[in-house]
Amino acid sequence: MKTFVRNNTKIHISDTVIEIFEKYKQKNIKDNESGGILIGQIKDDNIYILKASIPNKFDKSSRYYFECNKDAAQIIINYEFYNSGKRSIYLGEWHTHPENIPTPSGIDKRMIKGQFNRNKLNEPFLILIIQGLEEIYLSLYDGKKFYE
Ligand SMILES: [Zn+2]
Repeated sequence: MKTFVRNNTKIHISDTVIEIFEKYKQKNIKDNESGGILIGQIKDDNIYILKASIPNKFDKSSRYYFECNKDAAQIIINYEFYNSGKRSIYLGEWHTHPENIPTPSGIDKRMIKGQFNRNKLNEPFLILIIQGLEEIYLSLYDGKKFYE
């Protein structure tokens, strides 16, 4: 378990999810970006990222681009919600970047803003995680700002 703290909010990422990020790192020069959605639970000021979906054949990706298929993602969200006694919810998105210390592109930020505005969210924020070759970028978007 890895924990990130910002103000009173603690974001915990399970080992299973960390392993998925590690596995899809773009170590090879030909590796495309990978990504998926983040699923987890919230208890008071703690956010638990328990699951991350892995790329499927409906996603679009290249070396510097990844777009998660929304229909496939919705199936996973529904499945996890009903199989957790309605406790596990959609928390955000993750993808990889072929750079050591990742920073979100303009497209990445627009994607999160779009998701935030489009979706009827259970919680008033979305998480964006980018796995670089060395470090992880993590931010929380609340409809106005990205808190990194
Ligand atoms: Zn990106």
